[in-house]
Amino acid sequence: MLQSHAAHQWHILMLEDNEDDALLVIHHLETQGWSIKWQRVETQSSLEQALSEFNWDVVLSDYSMPLFDGAAALKTVRKHSEDLPFVYVSGTLGEKAAVEAIKAGAQDYIVKNDLQRLAPVIQRAVAERAAQKQHRLSSELLRKLSQAVDQTEDSIFITNSDGRIEYVNPAFEQMTGYSAASITGLSPDVLKATEQEPDAYTDLWSTLKQHRTYRGTLINRKRSGELFYEEKVITPLVDADGKITHFVSTGRDVSERVKADEERTRLNAILEATTDVVAISDRDGKLLYLNRSGQELLGDVSYQTPYRQQAPTSHGMRIAEELILSALKQAEKHGIFERESMLTDAKGNEIYLSEVVIAHRDKTGQTAYFSSIGRNISERKQFEAELQHQATHDELTGLANRVLLAEQLQTEIQRAQEHGSKMAVLFLDMDNFKRVNDSLGHSLGDQLLQQVSVRMARYLRPNYLLARYGGDEFVIVAIDLTAPQAIVGVLDKLKRAFEQPVRVNQRDIFVSFTTGVSIYPDDGSSVEALLRNADSAMYQAKAAGGRSFQFYAPEMNERQQELLVLESELHWALERNQFVLHYQPQADTRTGKVIGTEALLRWNHPTRGLVQPDNFIPLLEETGLIVKVGLWVLRQACLDTMAMQVIGQHPVRVSVNLSARQFAEGDLASKVADVLKEIGFPPEQLELEITEQMLIQDLDTSASTLYALQQLGIRVAIDDYGTGYCSLAYLKRFPLHTLKIDRSFVSALPDNASDAAIVEATILLAHKLGLQVVAEGVEQSAQLHFLRDQGCDMVQGYYLSKPRPVAELQQMMELNLNDYL
Ligand code: C2E
Ligand code: CA
Ligand code: CA
Repeated sequence: MLQSHAAHQWHILMLEDNEDDALLVIHHLETQGWSIKWQRVETQSSLEQALSEFNWDVVLSDYSMPLFDGAAALKTVRKHSEDLPFVYVSGTLGEKAAVEAIKAGAQDYIVKNDLQRLAPVIQRAVAERAAQKQHRLSSELLRKLSQAVDQTEDSIFITNSDGRIEYVNPAFEQMTGYSAASITGLSPDVLKATEQEPDAYTDLWSTLKQHRTYRGTLINRKRSGELFYEEKVITPLVDADGKITHFVSTGRDVSERVKADEERTRLNAILEATTDVVAISDRDGKLLYLNRSGQELLGDVSYQTPYRQQAPTSHGMRIAEELILSALKQAEKHGIFERESMLTDAKGNEIYLSEVVIAHRDKTGQTAYFSSIGRNISERKQFEAELQHQATHDELTGLANRVLLAEQLQTEIQRAQEHGSKMAVLFLDMDNFKRVNDSLGHSLGDQLLQQVSVRMARYLRPNYLLARYGGDEFVIVAIDLTAPQAIVGVLDKLKRAFEQPVRVNQRDIFVSFTTGVSIYPDDGSSVEALLRNADSAMYQAKAAGGRSFQFYAPEMNERQQELLVLESELHWALERNQFVLHYQPQADTRTGKVIGTEALLRWNHPTRGLVQPDNFIPLLEETGLIVKVGLWVLRQACLDTMAMQVIGQHPVRVSVNLSARQFAEGDLASKVADVLKEIGFPPEQLELEITEQMLIQDLDTSASTLYALQQLGIRVAIDDYGTGYCSLAYLKRFPLHTLKIDRSFVSALPDNASDAAIVEATILLAHKLGLQVVAEGVEQSAQLHFLRDQGCDMVQGYYLSKPRPVAELQQMMELNLNDYL
């Protein structure tokens, strides 16, 4: 333990009153070759100080000293350390004192005048003390270890290399039910269970034989026969030669955990196997889990890990999350929430789910997480929808049946009530169906009905209701009518729809209807009343010979009959060249010369003669024919004006009236441009007349149309000025050129002071805004004088000329205001 004396420096503490004696001892040791560092003390306190200040190898102590005594010194040293060697070096020490000294813990004693033994004694004392210390430490350690082994919850047993148990700890006894006494000397095989796969033991032994530590979980059997899972660590102990002498096994009963794991695996397998959608979210609705069915149903099988790490990236997860989120509040409130919901999968298919969302609470009653279990009920829903459709639709034509009609009509009645709008119920009965059916057979009759319903649907506005009421009876509900008269347009449309025959099985069948009409709210405000009255009107029409229509209210019939006739005739008027233009000149008040004309439309009716525009323009408007006719007017007016010019007059302006519909169409400017280009008419000679109402109908479209016309170089006039709502200042915002003061202001001039004032002010303001002013309906010279005095630029009226046919246009140009003065 000690190194060679030369290399070792000894630290010696001397308890000695006599300095010479001390020196003698040191000297003696030094003559033995010792290198020494030493200190001499002779009192209790100096001893204590020296002990505490330094780590001494040995204490050499005199036995009897004047200031101190050897026995007390030993006590002090022992109190300080059990391991510090202590040797008495004393003058005389009797046999008895020597024995006492050894008993009290001194290692040895030397007589001062026989120092021969001193060096070996110190060496032996030091070695002995070191060994003792080692021993004490290791026994302390052993005690601690065995305490730990005794107290640990892990079961421990130790076998020798033959596999006989040498030691088991209390935890082992507890875990297995075997007492130490009963199992010591036996093989741990007593614990083996047949339920354990033998492979595990093969693995265990091969690991141990390689001197490696085995770790694994084994199924073992307790003394009671009960099985348990033991998580084991077995370590081979090896001696100095590398031979295995023992095995130490530590184990832990993990049956609970294994069972829980198995349970979880089973539950997971069930969740993954069920055809229901199962989703779990945290308390904020963030999706944590979506089972396989959920992924498949929502069209998202890319999702691998059942528990999610990040934000939902896929469609399916997002959908599942939204689904839970939407139910969260209700589930949170009631704990459990059931509903049916609809969602769209990745392919856009609609899926219906019947769902139960549950809020799972923790011990404190807080929601810990939500689960949602959903069943795909799309098929059932589809089936229900089919049933519903079958119940509400006619099988043959696919149209609504009377059940659905009644329901929809009820809804429309409510809507019409709220909006104060009108609607018409048309009850149609096919005139010749019975004959067709009898002569051609049911199957062709069915086909005819199908064709008829398809054609009706095509000709009607999509928001109108159309139903098959029975056999050959149909019902149409025309909603949002501006006026009851508007129904005429619908009737006319239907008539035209069946002007062409219906083709069934290569036969042409001409179809006509007898129709009864009731109007909401005039003829009834309930579903029953409206249908009943339309039906009875239809019977009246049948009685009158069929192939016609009848209104329920008698006063409607005459006027509507006439309108309907007119309207259907109007459809042919354009093709049959029945429209003509008349022209009325406009003259300059300063020179008196005609500088322009206004084109005015007339209908040359074969039996009624010349029909004035007020009688047919509203019908053209209502049917939309005005757009086509208006274009014809424009082209014809330009052509007539060109023709006249060629005959040799100075350039003349022509004014063409526009209808609201034309002006609102948006592409007016390009249509006009096309016409001008087609016939090569100079744009600056064309003036278009619009009214204030048309202008303010849709300000954005008006503005863009007016700017487009200005771009083309066309003039625009405000017609009938004064009858609308526009202030002049307002008109300033649009590019306009002419203001036509309405006839109603001119007729009472100059005597009516207020009209005179209005006309005067209008002319003044119009000029300020750079507008030319035309006075309409000038019939008398007094009117002309007044207007001329106020600076009105032009006049138009019977005073100069009534509107005349185009043949007289040339003649009209020669007129001069001054000739009449
Ligand atoms: P308007 O644009 O105000 O046309 C002037 C109307 O006043 C014309 O009636 C004309 O015959 C009448 N008139 C002219 N001078 C006098 C007069 O001194 N005394 C009286 N009492 N009447 C006079 P008309 O031709 O019956 O036209 C009526 C309305 O029909 C026009 O009013 C215009 O709004 C519309 N209209 C005529 N042609 C067309 C057309 O081609 N397209 C469009 N959209 N509307 C047109
Ligand atoms: Ca006009
Ligand atoms: Ca006018």
